[in-house]
Amino acid sequence: MIGTILTSIGIGLGVLVLFLAAFILLKTVLYSPPQKPAEHKEFVEVDGESVAERLGLAVQLKTISYHDPKKVDGNAFLGLHRLFQTLYPQVHAKLTREIINDYSLLYTWEGKDPSLKPIMLTSHLDVVPADESEESGWIHPPFSGEIADGYVWGRGTLDIKSGVIGVLEAVEYLLKQDFQPERTVYLGFGHDEEIGGEYGAMAIAELLASRGVKLGSLLDEGGSVINGFLPGVDRPVAVIGISEKGYLSLILNVEMDGGHSSMPAQETAIGVLARAVASLELNPMPAHLEVVEFLMSYLGSALPFWQRMLFANTWLFGGLLKQRLSETNMLNATIRTTTAPTIIEAGMKDNILPAKAEAVVNFRILPGDDLRSVYEMVLERIADERVKVTPYQGDTLEGESGWDPSPVADTDSPFYLRLARLTKEAFPDALVAPYLVLGGTDARHYAVITDNALRFTPILMSMADVGTVHGVNEKLSIEECSHMVGFYIAYIQELGNLSGEVDIEPEEEEEILVFPPEDDAYAEMGERELEELDEEPDKDEVE
Ligand SMILES: [Zn+2]
Repeated sequence: MIGTILTSIGIGLGVLVLFLAAFILLKTVLYSPPQKPAEHKEFVEVDGESVAERLGLAVQLKTISYHDPKKVDGNAFLGLHRLFQTLYPQVHAKLTREIINDYSLLYTWEGKDPSLKPIMLTSHLDVVPADESEESGWIHPPFSGEIADGYVWGRGTLDIKSGVIGVLEAVEYLLKQDFQPERTVYLGFGHDEEIGGEYGAMAIAELLASRGVKLGSLLDEGGSVINGFLPGVDRPVAVIGISEKGYLSLILNVEMDGGHSSMPAQETAIGVLARAVASLELNPMPAHLEVVEFLMSYLGSALPFWQRMLFANTWLFGGLLKQRLSETNMLNATIRTTTAPTIIEAGMKDNILPAKAEAVVNFRILPGDDLRSVYEMVLERIADERVKVTPYQGDTLEGESGWDPSPVADTDSPFYLRLARLTKEAFPDALVAPYLVLGGTDARHYAVITDNALRFTPILMSMADVGTVHGVNEKLSIEECSHMVGFYIAYIQELGNLSGEVDIEPEEEEEILVFPPEDDAYAEMGERELEELDEEPDKDEVE
């Protein structure tokens, strides 16, 4: 009797396991259809060598931004303005140029149809410092702008004077062809992105907002085409940033009785602070898979089978995935609000107990979390009233010390879809996917005038190249100089001429704050067609 029951249970379990395995397999096979190859498109052939030379001239001007305004070399910025006037006479004859806070630039290129929403291309004029000493490791000095071995070398060639030169080259070319876009095109070049963008991009955005400007879309730096982006995937991946993480710096302050170190209390300021920092590090903010899932729903088909199986079945393997992704710094930053202790200060003499100990911890906030929730999670983790937790600068969480994650651009919007298609046409080997920018860019300041801030630079880079940004031997190949300008020309031609139908606002919905923006996009993701948009409206129907 018992034997029969056990056999039945065994068979039942076996069937269940088989069923489960089949289900997992089916989900894996159906997961993320492969991306269709792009149709062939002719891009304008640009002479990369001469673009590289002009970029080299821009690199030579040391437009380094510093928090201390006295250290900023204003003449370098003015020199860059003059260089642009010399190199791009058409741009300066036909576009309106405004100088914002002495060093930032805003150009307006009037479109034929002022009723259409304008588009904007942005980049920044400033760079981070670079070590110019002999021992620095730079093969060619960082501000030489030298052309050698097929590259233009120096600080700003990737981040991101290339973007400024690339856009100006494209506009100059189009003006020479007598092209005028249907939509007004703004070019915005801030001068302080590397220190927060307050006087550059933020001021430009506020100025445009005060004029009532609402953009169709904005294109800034943030993503690019990266070889080796995904381990195990041999194709380059073009990542288009559709949002960026928020930011929060907090001071942890402990004040306790100081005194002579010969008779210390059982707990000291340093000890209490150290425990608080340690508990933040040991108890990371919760992991959320939504962002990675969204990215993988575009790229899944290229993943090796086992990885694909995990992503296709997060209902079962979610926990395992979180654990695995946490092991890589970059992926860990994509699944959670990160915790980074960056400053610690206490004590001044080896035999005196300090009465005060302070640390600064920097958090990069994942969409889904916000300033308030992160602050609360910090207090919860420290759970010690002796540790006072306050904003690093200012009195409020929001402001100089922090900001929420930026709005998520709509991946169903024609502006995104056009950009994605152009990217595929320009880089036929690449997979294209939206993603979350982990660092900060100027684009977040433009949230006041657009929900469609897209972050993408059309250049192919290796993971090693990515490491040279803010590092040593930053350089851009002559080939990519050419590629980039050809892309910007096509971008302005296409996006600048998008028909007015795309400007019609959908019915007012609740504000989109969750990531990803649209659930139903999962199904058809990656392969949206644009046929409807390509069709010219019937002349007779348009009165
Ligand atoms: Zn940058």
